Amino acid sequence: MTVGKVYLDMPVNYLKGVGPARAESLRKLGIVTARDLLFHIPHRYEDASTISPIASLETGMDGTIIGKVISKGIIPTRRGLRIFQAVLKDESGMIEASWPGQPFLDRSIEKGDIMLLTGSVRFFHGRQLQPREYIQLGKDDDDVKGGKVLAVYPATEGLSFKVIRGIIDQHLDTLLPLIKEYLPEDVLRHAGLPSLREALLMVHRPKTIAEGTRGRARLAFEELLFVHILHRRANALKREKRSGTAFENRRQLTSALKNALPFTLTNAQTVAVREIVADMVSDRKMHRLLQGDVGSGKTIVALFAALLAMENGYQAAIMAPTELLAEQHFRTFTTLLEPLGIEPVLVTGSLSARARKAAAARLAGTEPVLAVGTHALAQEAAVFGRLGFVTIDEQHRFGVEQRAAIAAKGESPDVLLMSATPIPRSLALTAYGDLDVSTLDERPAGRQPVTTVMRPESARERVLQFVARETEKGRQAYVVYPVIEESEKTDLKAATTMYEQLSAGAFAGRVVALIHGRVPADERETIMRAFRDGKIDVLVSTTVIEVGIDVPNATVMLIEHPERFGLSQLHQLRGRVGRGAEASYCILLGGVGEEAAERLKIFVDTDDGFEIARADLRLRGMGNLFGEEQSGEATFRIADPVRDEELNIEARAAAERLLERDPGLTAKENAGIRKVLSARYSRALELFRVG
Ligand code: ADP
Ligand code: MG
Repeated sequence: MTVGKVYLDMPVNYLKGVGPARAESLRKLGIVTARDLLFHIPHRYEDASTISPIASLETGMDGTIIGKVISKGIIPTRRGLRIFQAVLKDESGMIEASWPGQPFLDRSIEKGDIMLLTGSVRFFHGRQLQPREYIQLGKDDDDVKGGKVLAVYPATEGLSFKVIRGIIDQHLDTLLPLIKEYLPEDVLRHAGLPSLREALLMVHRPKTIAEGTRGRARLAFEELLFVHILHRRANALKREKRSGTAFENRRQLTSALKNALPFTLTNAQTVAVREIVADMVSDRKMHRLLQGDVGSGKTIVALFAALLAMENGYQAAIMAPTELLAEQHFRTFTTLLEPLGIEPVLVTGSLSARARKAAAARLAGTEPVLAVGTHALAQEAAVFGRLGFVTIDEQHRFGVEQRAAIAAKGESPDVLLMSATPIPRSLALTAYGDLDVSTLDERPAGRQPVTTVMRPESARERVLQFVARETEKGRQAYVVYPVIEESEKTDLKAATTMYEQLSAGAFAGRVVALIHGRVPADERETIMRAFRDGKIDVLVSTTVIEVGIDVPNATVMLIEHPERFGLSQLHQLRGRVGRGAEASYCILLGGVGEEAAERLKIFVDTDDGFEIARADLRLRGMGNLFGEEQSGEATFRIADPVRDEELNIEARAAAERLLERDPGLTAKENAGIRKVLSARYSRALELFRVG
């Protein structure tokens, strides 16, 4: 269906050339409206701007030519592959171009067509061009000359970047005039950046690669600027009216815990506790992130904070992303707090009706209580009588709404978020905005390092035998795969098939179980529980086991297709072993490319989560750091605060200047910014008000 008049908010399926199927594929790329299409920018360019005379091409070189098709046809090969070939001619000479496996081009490329080709030249019965890209520029007599810079777009299954390029190109001239600038002129002038309309033209149809880069810079700049504005606003709000409870540091329960602990706190833990206590005794509301590597001992720090609230007569809650983890915390706390005469209360979805009722009664009361649970704590049904402190473990596993919901309960509780993916402080400021940050950069003493190795495919048998031997000694193992099921598109080993294969083969006679994201949550918990209790020897899995589960008897983490995982993700997986007294191993199995091997070497060589997170950031950018589960934070589509460091500094200064002059952004020239902010970042704005 095509509607006469095009407008920016128009759903893409109304655009010419986009049917329901393409609209669906575009949606996967986050493109819903015509405006989204404009903001879908190329991730790289193919430089076909310098045209070489055909005669000058030599074997082994890369080049771009413009020539006329003087003959063409399909060549079958012995192996059944059909190749489309064409001979192109310009004033200097001729060359054969060849497209293996693309016989269908015979239908669209005709004799007499003038084409631009860019690719590499190889020797095959003479010079032959293998085009990476081609464009039909016109017919025989058209006046065509000059090269091009070709935009390459992020694509998705069923929708190639060429089709995307075609769609964008087709509509660019109608859509661009609808674009209105929303940044004040002096901001742009100061940053030396083009207007929005110019920038969009530059990114989609650059004359040079530098022009494309300049256009992108403007778009990245505005993203960074908006986020800085949001953060500054959030901070201002925080200063204005974030009054919280001023707890008193009575040193009753907290001192008792310190004396009862079977270990002494690390320095980093002591500092973090001190920072948190300072927040809690002030009358400002705490909104702090505690970040620290896997195993750095975050839980105990949170427990000190909870006890501080409780010795002031308030309730405290700790929310974890899974029932299993909640139970684990519950058990830890029950043991640690026994000498103090405190019995925590467990709140999860699978409590019996009676237990639920008893728990609800304790929460609704006004006695100090420590509630440990899942998102059940954040649900409407959970009513707190006097909640003064909340901590959210593995915070990125929760949605903004869940975090907001629990922070909104009780008496405006102080909030502590915990994360096992540590990031550099400067970056934390950008990523988390108005959060204060405490960092545990030290491991408790006496932990066994995990021996980490990379093993090639040829070592498979030996590796599996090693794992089997470990289980025969009574240890347990995880085997992790990147996908649940095999598919025709990739030849990745998958958890389900390998589970069958391993339980019948290498691990025959052992108890092997399978767990992945499509196993229903309650079944998943049952399996994890059985594994924790030692009833399962080998757990075949996808990354669902990532979350902070503690099984000291597990000593092997075997990861297949390690190149498919981010470094931080691998580090999280490795953190599942090395938790007991026995020597532990993390084995990356399988042949990986050279590039991947280099990346993985960083992981093999260091056990430092910070270093790994930094490498991950450098290599893959912000968006990927937290894996797919990341939800809610103001993220960037175009900008990358790590790679765009200078732009980021400039954007921050610009935000500062803007808000200094016009703190509420009420001036007329800032109306555009205000509008875009509320349209684009409503979810993020929500987050900034949390806690
Ligand atoms: P994470 O930061 O990954 O959440 P945990 O809080 O689960 O780490 O702690 C990991 C393990 O280290 C737990 O078994 C905990 O009891 C232990 N632990 C915490 N702090 C110390 C310490 N200072 N000394 C020795 N062991 C500690
Ligand atoms: Mg933890």
